[in-house]
Amino acid sequence: MIDFDTPYQPVPFDKIETGHYQPAFEAAISEARTGLAKIAEASDKATFQNTIEALEVLNYKLKRLEQVFFNINSAETNKELQQIAQEVSPLLTAYYNDITLNETLYARVNDVYKERGSLGLNPEQRKLLEDTYKAFVRNGANLDAEAKTEYRKVTTELAKLTLKFEENLLDETNAYQLNLTDEKELAGLPDFVKEAAAMEAKAKNLSGWLFTLKAPSYLPFMKFADNRNLREEMYRAYNKRGFQQNERDNQEIIRQIVNYRLKLANLLGYKTFADYVLEERMAKTPEKVNAFLEDLLKESKPAARKEYDEVQAYARKLGASFTIQRWDWAYYSEKLKNEKFSITDEMTKPYFRLERVESGIFDLAGKLYGISFEADTTVPVYNKDVKTFRVFNEEGSFLALLYVDYFPRESKQGGAWMTNYLEQHQAEGKDVRPHVSLVLNFTKPTETKPSLLTYDEVRTFLHEFGHALHSIFSNCTYMSLAGTNVYRDFVELPSQIMENWAEQKEWLNQVAVHYETGEKMPEEMLDNILRSRNFNGGFAFIRQLSFGLNDMAWHTLRDSLNKPVAEIEMEAMARTELFPPVAGCSFSTGFAHIFSGGYAAGYYSYKWAEVLDADAFSLFAERGIFDKATAKSFRDNILSRGGTEDPMELYKRFRGQEPSVEPLLVRSGLK
Ligand SMILES: [Zn+2]
Repeated sequence: MIDFDTPYQPVPFDKIETGHYQPAFEAAISEARTGLAKIAEASDKATFQNTIEALEVLNYKLKRLEQVFFNINSAETNKELQQIAQEVSPLLTAYYNDITLNETLYARVNDVYKERGSLGLNPEQRKLLEDTYKAFVRNGANLDAEAKTEYRKVTTELAKLTLKFEENLLDETNAYQLNLTDEKELAGLPDFVKEAAAMEAKAKNLSGWLFTLKAPSYLPFMKFADNRNLREEMYRAYNKRGFQQNERDNQEIIRQIVNYRLKLANLLGYKTFADYVLEERMAKTPEKVNAFLEDLLKESKPAARKEYDEVQAYARKLGASFTIQRWDWAYYSEKLKNEKFSITDEMTKPYFRLERVESGIFDLAGKLYGISFEADTTVPVYNKDVKTFRVFNEEGSFLALLYVDYFPRESKQGGAWMTNYLEQHQAEGKDVRPHVSLVLNFTKPTETKPSLLTYDEVRTFLHEFGHALHSIFSNCTYMSLAGTNVYRDFVELPSQIMENWAEQKEWLNQVAVHYETGEKMPEEMLDNILRSRNFNGGFAFIRQLSFGLNDMAWHTLRDSLNKPVAEIEMEAMARTELFPPVAGCSFSTGFAHIFSGGYAAGYYSYKWAEVLDADAFSLFAERGIFDKATAKSFRDNILSRGGTEDPMELYKRFRGQEPSVEPLLVRSGLK
């Protein structure tokens, strides 16, 4: 078993070995089962404390183990861990099913629920009771015996399939590499890209330069490489991941996932999987989500079309005799952007040294919320690149432990995410503070340069940090309602709102300092970054909408899927496309968000939350971007409240009214 008996009880990564996980899971599940039986078979009258609260606390230990294990499986994985994940996932699914499908227990939960009006519960307790009751119903408690068996089978299969999807994608990403040995083929690539590629090659004992499908390698290549054939090759390699009729193909996995999800929804009495999911979201119904996406598409498509025409015209001006294709978009966009705003990542990167951005972000949190960060090198970590900080409140009390894991590795999934190793909650009257982790994939320092971020990476950092604040400030009683345990279409508000500060000169001025000369970023460059913010913004807008529409298409299916993956995808995304389709490529087979990441029928949430964050930030803009009173209200009403109340109520308490879509349209230059 894992020993957590250390100061603040951080996870003892230095003592954990891969071989510990499986027995730890088995022991934790077995212990939880014993506890479960006690709660279900108690002979005294069911009460809030002996049933609802007891159930809540029952899984804390197991939950922590899951959080540690599954984050390691994403951030520092290997074949052995993947194998364990495949083995423990069904055990976990079975255990959680045993809770919600336990009839004696459900009867007790139901008894308490029926009396909810007269129990004298506070709002958080009431929310816990309602959520617990709903969790039973939504997980099959009302089904007959035969349907319950079916339900178990479906959820077990889904757990396995979604993991398999993620594994296939990682393997596909790692399976491809482009090793260039002729420097001519690197034409157009800035030095930082070349250096990183040379290091990548060296690490694999190859000569020349190595490019991969991981974001820090792939994205700059698509943006800068003059060699059009190589861009096309990279594009195709990236977009045929999971679509190559090999042993890592994701098409059949997708077909099974959507069919099982539909089956699950039908079993529980919903027309589609989206209906089932959205019941527990701010948006409530698929109709509302689709209308939301369609409205925004109407607002943004003309702008996107105009941007496309402009990039095409510019490409012709530069001598392109062809109609631009997908592998040309980033390349010519970058050139046009450079001409219009004379701004490139290469120019700005020296001003965004990782350490400086990190302290700028910590200072921002200090200005707004009065908190401070102190490096702590004594906390065990799972990889030497991981750093830890202790976070303190204004008056000095301990608020949270923060881990940051900045750089890509072969063993790490791409992208950026925030996770917890321990969530805030109250235990025996004591406030247990959270252990929060930020996992990112920033450009690694090279032999000659520190880690220098692109402006987009600065925003990504702010974004994930916003999620972290949601967890760090949590002030709830129950873990399942604490921190980021909120509706999926609300969870991106705390993260996205932080990105607004990246558009504020007052903040950027403090962060953007040249790593060699120590000079501040010139005023003109700063202006250009901000002026160029909405460059091709309409295109980016419809791209997000197309992902949302793709997601909704898969999850509003009313019949089992018999059509090819490509067909559904084409139908869903056609109206948002400005380019002709590319044969042999698929977006869906690499769409981990919805097929392995918990965003099923939820991708629209990003845009939904943008509406919220633009509207919320407009209050800061009005009252001052470092206004402590506004920040305090945001912390008190939203960041500290987790899922203890309906998000719209929390939002209105902060903002004084429901959100309006106008601030987003204005910010995006669409109005
Ligand atoms: Zn996010």
